[in-house]
Amino acid sequence: MANIERTLVLIKPDALQRDLLGEVLGRFERKGLKISALKFVRLTDALLDEHYIHLKEKVFFKSIKQFMMQTPVVALVLEGIDAIESVRKLVGATNPRAADAGTIRADLSMNVPSNLVHASDSVDAAAGEIKRFFKEDELFAYEKITDRYVFGEGI
Ligand code: GDP
Repeated sequence: MANIERTLVLIKPDALQRDLLGEVLGRFERKGLKISALKFVRLTDALLDEHYIHLKEKVFFKSIKQFMMQTPVVALVLEGIDAIESVRKLVGATNPRAADAGTIRADLSMNVPSNLVHASDSVDAAAGEIKRFFKEDELFAYEKITDRYVFGEGI
């Protein structure tokens, strides 16, 4: 049985400023990931304190929070086989210049903090982050006629 997971993605202010929302979203769609939830969110200092708690001691903590509040971000939940790892692979390494060619960060960005996308990095993080950004009734389960081609069963 395939391991179907959900993961949280934020498309950051640099993507909005650079008109790359569609390009980033398109890469996830083309992979076959299903969009379970999607909305604009205005991040707050308090929300970012939680979201980036693992960076609390870093010198850039304050500036990364300011960066993330510059515009609304697009928050989405993506569903697919091993979605957490799959999405991290599509996104690429934190430093866009160290990221593998073909990834979103390598292909479309050059430096931190403006590396276009956040994606959950573990099963626990995904569960916590989905809860942080979405209410239960904002998450949608639905069938697509392409499911059996993308997920690989029943053809
Ligand atoms: P991620 O999971 O790949 O996003 O990496 P982290 O959780 O370690 O960092 C969160 C975000 O902080 C990154 O995506 C960058 O936008 C930003 N960031 C990471 N390292 C640095 C840094 O050295 N300087 C600055 N200014 N921002 C950074």
